[in-house]
Amino acid sequence: MDRTPRFPDIPQRIGGLEKLAYNLWWSWNPDARALFWALDLAVWRESGHNPIRMLAILPGERLREASEEAAFLRRYDAVMARFEAETAGREGWFTRRYGSPRAPLAYFSAEYGLHVSLPMYAGGLGILAGDYLKECSDMAIPVVAVGLLYSRGYVTQRIREDGSPEDLRETLDRTYDPVRRVLDGEGRPLRVQVPLFDPPLHVAVWKVEVGRVPFYLMDTDLETNQPWDRAIAHHLYAIQPEQRLRQEIVLGMGGMRVLEALGLSPGAVHINEGHPALALLQRVRPLMEQGMGFTEALEEVRRTTVFTTHTPVSAGTDVFPFAMMEKYFAHCCEDLGLDHTKFLGLGAHPQRPEAGFNTTAFALRMSRFANGVSRRHGEVAREIWAPLWPELAREEVPIASVTNGVHLPTWIDPHRLQPLFDRVLGPDWRDRQDDPGLWDKVEEIPDEELWRLHQELKVRLIDHLHKRARPRWERRQVSAQNVIAGGALLDAKVLTLGFARRFTAYKRPDLLLRDRNRLKRLVTDPLRPVQIIFAGKAHPADTEGKRLVQEIFRLCQDPEFAGRLAFVEDYDQALASYLVRGVDVWLNNPVPPLEASGTSGMKAGMNGTLNCSILDGWWIEGFNGKNGWAFGEEFSGEGDRFSADAEALFRLLEEQVVPLYYAYNGGIPKGWVRRMKESIRTVAPLYGTRRMVRKYVEQFYVAALGLHANGVGS
Ligand SMILES: *Cc1c(COP(=O)(O)O)cnc(C)c1O
Repeated sequence: MDRTPRFPDIPQRIGGLEKLAYNLWWSWNPDARALFWALDLAVWRESGHNPIRMLAILPGERLREASEEAAFLRRYDAVMARFEAETAGREGWFTRRYGSPRAPLAYFSAEYGLHVSLPMYAGGLGILAGDYLKECSDMAIPVVAVGLLYSRGYVTQRIREDGSPEDLRETLDRTYDPVRRVLDGEGRPLRVQVPLFDPPLHVAVWKVEVGRVPFYLMDTDLETNQPWDRAIAHHLYAIQPEQRLRQEIVLGMGGMRVLEALGLSPGAVHINEGHPALALLQRVRPLMEQGMGFTEALEEVRRTTVFTTHTPVSAGTDVFPFAMMEKYFAHCCEDLGLDHTKFLGLGAHPQRPEAGFNTTAFALRMSRFANGVSRRHGEVAREIWAPLWPELAREEVPIASVTNGVHLPTWIDPHRLQPLFDRVLGPDWRDRQDDPGLWDKVEEIPDEELWRLHQELKVRLIDHLHKRARPRWERRQVSAQNVIAGGALLDAKVLTLGFARRFTAYKRPDLLLRDRNRLKRLVTDPLRPVQIIFAGKAHPADTEGKRLVQEIFRLCQDPEFAGRLAFVEDYDQALASYLVRGVDVWLNNPVPPLEASGTSGMKAGMNGTLNCSILDGWWIEGFNGKNGWAFGEEFSGEGDRFSADAEALFRLLEEQVVPLYYAYNGGIPKGWVRRMKESIRTVAPLYGTRRMVRKYVEQFYVAALGLHANGVGS
């Protein structure tokens, strides 16, 4: 992890390329990306689309040549001018409205999904945090982010011959990652001591540039730390409970210390899900040291804290036994002169006080501003957490809702669809992306053009799957049957459904397996066949999730399904971008109301991929009857929900989805294309992070940071 890449001498004229490569801004700005391909397309591909690796392997000769090419220099200058304006410049949506705040807001999250070259996310929560940082950069929100640099990431999952997933958790080589060590005043690696550990624990600090947002990461794998302590940040979501607690102490309390060491004193804090909540205790500390009483200090912290809860599923909340908490916090409480039962009480669930320290309960008690991630999830969260406010009526429980969103420039296809939007919506559409009126112009796109473009994206997806299959076949000697199960027989002309998500029971990847004969008839219909691409990882400790992977994979191997079912291993951000753009239908069938929001369907919908989803999470708000399909209301609440939902989904596919897709008229399924346009038109303006971050600012940050709108423009 310590190695720094060596670059050939980059001519001074284009010396900014190194800085550009180290700022993820390039990844969501197509003209910046194009600058790297323009250097050498083959080397760009060889580098895995990683500009840092590319600069390290590109012959110095080529860089010298480029530094003398007029056409390259023109592009270079244009990109660098915009890069400087959008990263060094402070001016943007936020400053125009509120001016420059004195202190930034600190955002804490256990996971971030920013780019394939930084694997430190498990799923939707991390992707949301990554998309949020990019949007904060675009809107000039004064944010500094904090996280952990996991030396082994989350998990790489391969499928064994018998279909069961195998977890590979190797140390990642971060030489070419866009991460740089933070140095102290004397040019040595910065070390920061984390509170509560005996013997003392130190973290090294790293920095990632996300446009103008600085993102600091901590790493515990230092020689001076004890072996068990070194392993704290090996994996995202340590499985062993005590190690998980230690991880959260480092993330929250260590994170606050790191900000302090860097001279950054946040004016407010946003806690993304319960894992980093202990940061709030660390915020109380300096106030008490200044002489405030506990209650007063607590009130001061609350006034400036925002908390987002992301799931009603209990596995999403950590509950640590009190005895374990005592071991780490007894001293801390003593130091602060704080009665530790009072502190531990802040994490007690009113109905199960003996269960332990509940991080979500703690975060809610410590935050003046809290939100769920869709309207429905807001209701569910108010219901679940009402016992914390026994004196309030259900609808007064102070948990608001801000529906999640995704970062448009990241998720809308940059090669075909974004250039089409440049033309049809105007080149400034990214700046006006949350204006629904703008998107009415999608109607002007010729049907033929949109359909052709979508077919190209489907071919690109299938080509990509073939590219992934080839080395499995060549190097790993996977059986032919498993190459087929991986998608070798997929056909771009066939109606294609995608089901890609974390494999866990409540998401029900096996819903269509309820009736295998019916599924077989659906996919092998000679005139109107259907193919389904599954992808997803199961958490290493989720045995049911792993069993589901195996069950689906076995089906994909079965010749009865004619190679029309595929399971693609090791779902990640790169595969997600191919899938959400390349399939025809995005399938979503969790058990309501457990999908708090869901974001993959938003990515699909704004690319013209039609959602076919149970009414849950964001789709309750997003579905308008014409922009995809919905089901799930058929279930009366009595009997077997699984069967009722399976029946509803089969009927929807058989009676509506399949016929509409194959209703060609002049070579184009007109009715389908109409729905695609309706999907783009309605999903893009409302389900972007632009709208989400705006809401965060208006509903929470303005009050938490004590700002006033200056009434200038929007
Ligand atoms: C968007 C995304 C998710 C979140 O998807 P859900 O709809 O919440 O299931 C998970 N993983 C990856 C890689 C993603 O890109």
